[in-house]
Amino acid sequence: MQKIVNEIDIALVGGGIMSATLATILHEIDPKLKIHLFEKLPSCGEESSAALNNAGTGHAGNCELNYTPEKNNNININKALSVCEMYELSLQLWAYVVKNDKNIPPESFITKSSHASFVWDKVNTKFLEKRFKLISKQPLFKGMTFTKEAQKIKSIFPLLIKGRINDDNIALTNYEFGTDVNFGQLTSILIKRLQKNAYFKIHTNEHISKIKKINNCYHFQTQLGQIHAKFIFLGAGGNSIKILQDLRLPQARGYGGFPISGKWLVCDNKNIIQQHKGKVYSQAETGSPPMSVPHLDIRNINGKQSLLFGPFAGFTFKFLKSGSFLDFPSSIKISNLKEILTVGIKNLNLLTYLIKQALQNHKNRMKHLRKFYPEAKSSDWKLISAGQRVQIIKPSDGLFGKLEFGTEIIYDHKKTLAALLGASPGASVSAASMLEIVEKCFLNQNQEYTKKLKKIFPSYGIKLNDNPEMLQKVRNSYRKILKLL
Ligand SMILES: Cc1cc2nc3c(=O)[nH]c(=O)nc-3n(C[C@H](O)[C@H](O)[C@H](O)COP(=O)(O)OP(=O)(O)OC[C@H]3O[C@@H](n4cnc5c(N)ncnc54)[C@H](O)[C@@H]3O)c2cc1C
Repeated sequence: MQKIVNEIDIALVGGGIMSATLATILHEIDPKLKIHLFEKLPSCGEESSAALNNAGTGHAGNCELNYTPEKNNNININKALSVCEMYELSLQLWAYVVKNDKNIPPESFITKSSHASFVWDKVNTKFLEKRFKLISKQPLFKGMTFTKEAQKIKSIFPLLIKGRINDDNIALTNYEFGTDVNFGQLTSILIKRLQKNAYFKIHTNEHISKIKKINNCYHFQTQLGQIHAKFIFLGAGGNSIKILQDLRLPQARGYGGFPISGKWLVCDNKNIIQQHKGKVYSQAETGSPPMSVPHLDIRNINGKQSLLFGPFAGFTFKFLKSGSFLDFPSSIKISNLKEILTVGIKNLNLLTYLIKQALQNHKNRMKHLRKFYPEAKSSDWKLISAGQRVQIIKPSDGLFGKLEFGTEIIYDHKKTLAALLGASPGASVSAASMLEIVEKCFLNQNQEYTKKLKKIFPSYGIKLNDNPEMLQKVRNSYRKILKLL
């Protein structure tokens, strides 16, 4: 064991979009914080944040029908509103970064991309029209359009209509100012920018484990010696749950992870690609997990366009793409056995759905795709793997453990540790999630920090949906900087 000890303020475990965002905000409010980032792979942004490991949708509630569930004939739009408010913060942060660094071309990580929802049966057409009437009244969604006319839909998204036998009950909402984001590229940009500050250090090929809390400091061993950190962020994606378990944090008792893998159908045929501009979502199949809502999606990855369809969910034991098949079995402990077993019993439908999805062949997957794009030819599409998601299993008041499809940040009682669990809405809300950590763990009524946050986030502390004038001002500004007009 080496004797060198490195005393630092903040250790970030994992080099994905979350750690990169937290470090960016913290260094803006206090450039002298000694922040070290530890990544187990040779480079950052290679797991869930990598471009093809996620859908690159700047989730803002425009097109994701699972954010506006209907119960007893009432559509609840609260989640769409809150995700949209959170995404506004991400856009403000990215615009701040681009404005302050003339060497970052915004189009290298973000482009304008229409966000549409398309349905093709009576029930969902009724739902979409009702949803549109509610949501388009909100300032955040101003500009959204709705149509049931096949010709109109064809003029915007021809692939959805060509060859469709029955267009009696189709409907589409469209929001022109949606975005496509390359979160892997964004992670690299943020980290490269951070590296200009001598107080920020990055250590790759460092798999962090066996973290101990001794005398108010987190200790762990690395190739450069012992690290003693006053604050630690577990941004290790699917692996964060395992690191938390090793730490035996009381706040994480009963927690577990439920891994779900993903796959895309990809088309590189230029003639087809040029006929589709934007992201078209629809309703998830009955029984499927909410984050497996299918979509037909133009992606802009490192200057190359591809058409993606999916994600198809699947069953896996791995917590990371680069993980091990022992990840899930070894995460079952006496402390979470009840939750994991009962979640399994309560979600047998989901397990069956995932196994069925994993067993699908190309023909079945094409059948799904043809519901969106009736003339899709098998030979134009190939299957590639998407990323892994680890959903949260947690204790509940009742008899059964609870399966959560959202994100949750766990803190220790002194707010010297924060761990991000779950993966939805994910990277899009990275600014809001990391801002929550900054507020809970670093602000301490520090007026200077708050002033600096207001410079990064012009709408800091303000609900934009309640302030249409400010919303317009903020949007005009970041759309110009990020070239989204
Ligand atoms: C199929 C799919 C589609 C998605 N679509 C979208 C979308 O359209 N829009 C959206 O906003 N979000 C989407 N997401 C979610 C999004 O990808 C994630 O929320 C986000 O990338 C998570 O970032 P992260 O930094 O927490 O994790 P990651 O990017 O996974 O980074 C974690 C890092 O920690 C490292 N690490 C792990 N263990 C250790 C260790 N012990 N020591 C050191 N390093 C470690 C890993 O190597 C990795 O680099 C999608 C996810 C999936 C799977």
